[in-house]
This record gives sequence, structure tokens and C-alpha cells, in this order.
Amino acid sequence: MKTSKHILNFNGVKIIRLLRYITNPFLIFIACCLFVSGCVSLQALQEAQEIREKRLAEERNKEYLMLAPSKGEIKIAEDAQTAESAHYTITFGPDLEGHKDFDEDSERDSFMKSALGYMESLYNEMNVIFGFQPEHKIHVTLHDVYRETRHLATTTTQYRYESKGNTSLKYVTGIKMDFPLAMYEKPDVRVHELTHAFTNIYFLPTWFNEGIAVLMQTEWAKGGSHPKFNNLEGNVKRNLDGVNDLEDWEFHGGTSKLLQWRYSYAYTIVSELRKRFGHDYYIKVFQLMEADQLHNKLPSKMSTSFLIYYLNQAAETDLIPFFENLHFKVRRLTKEDILQNIRQANR
Ligand SMILES: [Zn+2]
Repeated sequence: MKTSKHILNFNGVKIIRLLRYITNPFLIFIACCLFVSGCVSLQALQEAQEIREKRLAEERNKEYLMLAPSKGEIKIAEDAQTAESAHYTITFGPDLEGHKDFDEDSERDSFMKSALGYMESLYNEMNVIFGFQPEHKIHVTLHDVYRETRHLATTTTQYRYESKGNTSLKYVTGIKMDFPLAMYEKPDVRVHELTHAFTNIYFLPTWFNEGIAVLMQTEWAKGGSHPKFNNLEGNVKRNLDGVNDLEDWEFHGGTSKLLQWRYSYAYTIVSELRKRFGHDYYIKVFQLMEADQLHNKLPSKMSTSFLIYYLNQAAETDLIPFFENLHFKVRRLTKEDILQNIRQANR
């Protein structure tokens, strides 16, 4: 039984093919790097709160967990340490060797079947919601402890640069996810990370990328780890230059209090714009980006001004005053300005 799709109501959006890249054997390989984008879920502040949240999440997720497992083919390795389905591979990381829940082949085998069946269903739902899907298979590794914690999951989109004439183009080459088991067990975290796998391709500003992931995690998957602010202006945080702190969000450093604010504030902005401009607002934004293919020409991530160029078109209104009011340092860009900036950046 499929549930909850109506919550975002992105149905009926035409499926557009992403990454219509023409691979040219004469392109010169320039560089290879990793783009670590997703990450989720801050350390729970207190054990008691964690237990309470877990109980609440279980209540909330009852309906959500009714997603029917996909009937697609699942191939499980003989030792059941790895398994593969249409859109994923899953591997048990080395530190799970001997884990009491997975030390028998049969335990790993049944876990893999269930995990991939569920993840495939989730993938299909997200494909309907977004109207597109990543081109590459998602490689999931499960850990006991990941980056010295059981509270951090990441989605990494790998890409490489190629130069063609005077232009440098980015090509996605792979997607990987890392979950400590404790995080994988939270369905809303899986939705957060899978959102990154779908949208990382557009090299979005970090705050917007995380805002969309928390929107899906909270309003579609009914997670509750990042509450929304009831007022954007009254809860703004500014850096020493007076600029909205979200503009400084590049990597996942900072105190947990600041990170919690960033996730919640970014989510509140994204949710507010969706409330104003309709349930299919972000689908329109992604379709406009896809039509232009400018994100692949950027030397790094999209700037907020560049993003607003698309937000404005999809909203058919000027959102610069909205962002200025929240102390973003943004400029009203035309397409010619963006092309000019790209040319300068590629010099
Ligand atoms: Zn994230």
C-alpha cells in the first residue's frame, strides 16, 4: 500500500531525464573530487529526550512504514555481506563483523532482503515526487560507528571536471551513502539522505539543499528532529558582517546548537516558500535548472543569488526583498549576469 504521497502532492509531474550528457571521448579529464553534501541528524542532546523522540517517531511512522516492499530483483552475495537491487548496493562495513544481530548468514540475508525491498519502494516514491531520478546506482555502506559517532549519516555525490573548449563541466560519477546502523533504523533519516541523492546533482547552496532534505524528512516522512520556527524574522542569526548565518554554511562544522538552528531555519524558509507558491513549486525550480544546464558549468556550488534567479522564475515574482529582509546578501541576477559570472569564473 502506498501512503503519504499526497502530503507533498508532486504527482503528475512529467518525468524528465537528467544528465543528458553527451560523452565525448576527446574531452580532457581535469580533476576528480568529492562533494560531501548530505548529512543529517545532530546528536541528541540527552538520552531521555532521545528515547522519547524514538517512541514518538515510532508512533508517527506507523502509517509511513506501510510502504509495500518493492517486488524488484534482489541479488544477495553468498556470504550475504553485500547485496544489490535495481538502484542500490548495500554492504556491511568491517566494524559490523561479529555484530550480534548479523553474525549469521541467515540474519544478514533476511536483513538485506527487507532493507533493499524497502529502499526500492522509497526510491520509487521519491521518483514520483521529484519527477526525476539520479542516473547512478546508490552505494550504501552500513557501519556500527561512522566518523567516530553513531549520530551522523552522509550522502556523497562524486563528480569530475572535464574541460571542453573554454568551459569546465562537472559530471556526476557516483553516489554513496554511509549510515551507522542506529541512523539507518530511522526511516526519516533514510528519506533525508535519499533526498540528497536525488537533488545533489544541481550543486545547490548548502542551506537550500538541507532545507529541501528536512522538508521531505519532516513533512513527508513525519520525522521530528528539526522543528520549524514560527517566525523567520524574529529567529534570524547573523554573522559578524550582519549577513544571515545560512550563507556561511559550507561544511558540517560548528556547535550542535548552531547546526540545529541552521537545519531548522533552512527548513522554515523552504517550507514557507512552498506554502506561498504551491506544492509543485520546487519541481518547477528543478525543471528550470534542468532546462538551462547551467549548474554543471559552475566552478563550485550555486550561490544563493543564482538560486533566487530560479526561485523567482518558478514563483513569477521577485523574491529578492524576501531574502534581503532575512539579511541574505543577494543580488538580482539576469541570465546574462549568470553567464557572465560563469565565463569570469572559468578564466
Ligand atoms: Zn543533510
